[in-house]
Amino acid sequence: MSWPVLSVKDLTITYNSSAGLVPAVRGVSFDLAVGESLGLAGESGCGKSTLANSLLRLLPEGTVTSGEVTIDGQDLFALSPGGLRAVRWTTGAIVFQGALHALNPVQTAGRQVREPMHVHETVASDDEARVRSRQLFERVGLSANLLEAYPHQLSGGQRQRVLIAMALACDPQLLIADEPTTALDLMVQAQVLALIAELREESSLSLIFITHDLSVLTCVADRLAIMYAGRIVEQGPSMDVFQNATHPYTKALAAAFPTIGDPASRKAPSGLAGDPPTPGALPSGCPFHPRCPLAEDRCRTIEPDLRSSGQGREAACVLI
Ligand code: ADP
Ligand code: MG
Repeated sequence: MSWPVLSVKDLTITYNSSAGLVPAVRGVSFDLAVGESLGLAGESGCGKSTLANSLLRLLPEGTVTSGEVTIDGQDLFALSPGGLRAVRWTTGAIVFQGALHALNPVQTAGRQVREPMHVHETVASDDEARVRSRQLFERVGLSANLLEAYPHQLSGGQRQRVLIAMALACDPQLLIADEPTTALDLMVQAQVLALIAELREESSLSLIFITHDLSVLTCVADRLAIMYAGRIVEQGPSMDVFQNATHPYTKALAAAFPTIGDPASRKAPSGLAGDPPTPGALPSGCPFHPRCPLAEDRCRTIEPDLRSSGQGREAACVLI
């Protein structure tokens, strides 16, 4: 029997920027069971990082959220600052997008891995933190002598492993990885993905893995959720969704094979012409209709809800 470590209900997130309101996430709901892995995909600007950051309340001040998020049985939006501190790192930890630049250049890797253990008092002494950081380095496939290395002495793949070790430092139940392999070359990307798959096998770690590359997700995710213009437009078991997409947007994403390391394919991983709409200027009806090869008249007026399309799958398209 598995229960949700995370439950998201009708979550809406609106940034309050100088240029006006930005409705970046619009009514997203999903549950994540203990030990389950959810892959979140979609082009740049569809709201993936906003959603990820909101799950540990890491959004800029002034951002307006509505809906419900329950993490390990606790109401996220009702948590006190102390309660929130306890949840971050120990219940849920995040490896940020662009995290290769997130390490402090003037501190050793080991010190940065020990820090969350001290802040969250998950260890009784610095000796214990050192023992645990050696174990964590071993777990992520790094040699213990790299604990004394500074970030500039590490390769991109090694730095990404340090960040994963840091995220695991307080033994979280949930790991959120926001495009952790995007900046890495093909070989290193494969190694980091294998590492994440191994970590999941060893423990009951729940995972949210974000990328714009659907094929990557089939290796690490049990379930896929595809985002477009701030909403989930399709979700279901990952192989089913990848091999037999129902939403025209997912079909376009699944048909495209991004060239790793090519910034152009990162920007337009779908092979579709044009860009997703900006949140402040959504088209009427289905936000995908201007790019959809199958769009009909009704698509210009109706924004479809996510509905069951059978066998644990859901899609938001009037044609399905
Ligand atoms: P993704 O991770 O899918 O690329 P993001 O969640 O980063 O998408 O962004 C979703 C939308 O929110 C984009 O239009 C982006 O420009 C906007 N956005 C992101 N962060 C902010 C912010 N701090 N203030 C205002 N708008 C933002
Ligand atoms: Mg992002």
